Amino acid sequence: MARCPICGEALKWEDLIEQMLSLENFRELLGDKQEFLKAFSEFVFKCPRCGEEFYGKALGEKEPGVVFELLNDFEGGIDYERRRVKLKLTNLLALNTMLEEWDRRTRK
Ligand SMILES: [Zn+2]
Repeated sequence: MARCPICGEALKWEDLIEQMLSLENFRELLGDKQEFLKAFSEFVFKCPRCGEEFYGKALGEKEPGVVFELLNDFEGGIDYERRRVKLKLTNLLALNTMLEEWDRRTRK
């Protein structure tokens, strides 16, 4: 789960990606994982709770990588006109982590 590096508040991925929709080339970024991760790590996010700003790289690389896959898997997950993320990214990410854990356990 992503947390604000300053106040520790749990952050919703929907909100984080919506902040990134201000990038004009966001759609293009979804076509290239390396470019997406680079843009993510350099993007300045603002925490909705404490209002402090921080770089995306403070959130690590694993979850943004999964978010990239999810956004590509679910076409239409973003409403570009309204700058809204319709996909429940936070829930999907939690599910993804759970399935990975389950997979790891059953393989032992
Ligand atoms: Zn904060």
